[in-house]
Amino acid sequence: MKVFKFGGASVKNAEGVRNVAKIINRYSDNLVVVSSAMGKITNLLETLGKAYFEKDGKADSIFNSFKAYHNEICAELFEERKTPDSVQNLFTELEIKLNKTPSLDFDFEYDQVVSFGEMTSTLIISEYLNVAGRKNKWIDIRTCLRTDNKFRDASVDWELTEKLVTGIFNFEKERLYVTQGFIGATTWNLTTTLGREGSDFTAAILGNVLNAESVSIWKDVPGVLSADPKKMEGTVKIDALSYREAVEMTYSGAKVIHPKTMKPLHNKGISLYVKSFLSPDDEGTVIHNIDHKIELPPIFIQKENQVLVTLSPKDFSFINIEDIERVVNFLKENRVTVTLMQQSAIDLNLVLNDPDAKLENIFQELMPFYTVRYNIGLTLITIRHYTEETLDWMVKKKDIYLEQHSRLTARMLVKQ
Ligand code: ADP
Ligand code: ASP
Ligand code: MG
Repeated sequence: MKVFKFGGASVKNAEGVRNVAKIINRYSDNLVVVSSAMGKITNLLETLGKAYFEKDGKADSIFNSFKAYHNEICAELFEERKTPDSVQNLFTELEIKLNKTPSLDFDFEYDQVVSFGEMTSTLIISEYLNVAGRKNKWIDIRTCLRTDNKFRDASVDWELTEKLVTGIFNFEKERLYVTQGFIGATTWNLTTTLGREGSDFTAAILGNVLNAESVSIWKDVPGVLSADPKKMEGTVKIDALSYREAVEMTYSGAKVIHPKTMKPLHNKGISLYVKSFLSPDDEGTVIHNIDHKIELPPIFIQKENQVLVTLSPKDFSFINIEDIERVVNFLKENRVTVTLMQQSAIDLNLVLNDPDAKLENIFQELMPFYTVRYNIGLTLITIRHYTEETLDWMVKKKDIYLEQHSRLTARMLVKQ
């Protein structure tokens, strides 16, 4: 069996849903289809979750936009322009939720609301495939993808998930399943999410536990390119990458694949294909085991919204391993992701994704020990397989805040 994952861009409108059905129909294999929410619906649901939690009176109109967006797509897909009952029932379920008083836990409420994006998209896709003659079974992934209760960033309970997933996706009577990316549930059946853009990861989880032949993620690009085509011209497609290369690229900020996708696939040696839903005949990129050296072009990655934090011990002592340990534990507790770290005698430099919360509040606890300085609005440029020429190009960037070179990777933090 194979796992296919379709992201928001592939199902952003009725034409997209029809195209997904066409792609599925090209394959006679047993398939699990994982889908994200349609278009930019997760962003909309984030604003809905916030409005509901803050009771600011905006929830009703955002909910109406959510409904209108999906009703419009259904009108184009189904007979008599009718939204299927199953989808209407979901709208009612969300409306009931929004009429209740929220709990005091924002992350919990966020997951309860935001998960409606994936629930709605997969029901529409499944219903459409059925009426278009491609029989399939819709699965609520929350019945089998078990997580802990760290809402908004839940971790998978692999043992339980494997047991439940293999029971449900058993292919005894079915050849095609349709299910949600990004969401899961605790053992108490409370909905959780795996972190933004997490649907690629879901596809890899299912691929791993079901021992898939391969996992394919269908994107709006021809495959993995040497840079994000939205940010750079003259990109070239890379035909094949090792898991290691892919994980380095995505961890550095190449948004084409969620960085957590590679581990479950690497662990079972399952190939990951990145293919274009706009030209499904084309080869795309394969990510798999490569045990020989392959020539790769310089690969450019830009990660925006970075913050440089410099911590200097107030008593002028050297930065030592205890400082690093204390700071790393502190950042973990505060859910702050570090993209790069560098130390000198009395400075510890941390490059972070700009956190939601105020930096002053986050770092307050460290202030008795360190002088804390910040620079915000920075971009981290990474070049894998850099050359002299690409380094020259980098150096022309103005206002370099920090630089780090290793054998294969050059990194530079700049103000663009
Ligand atoms: P999905 O629809 O699955 O959510 P994304 O929008 O998250 O897909 O990922 C596809 C996007 O990733 C592309 O449109 C492209 O702008 C971006 N991207 C960033 N880096 C790369 C890269 N190196 N190669 C290809 N695409 C990239
Ligand atoms: N819909 C979710 C998001 O936009 C998950 C995903 O698309 O992978 O973050
Ligand atoms: Mg995405």
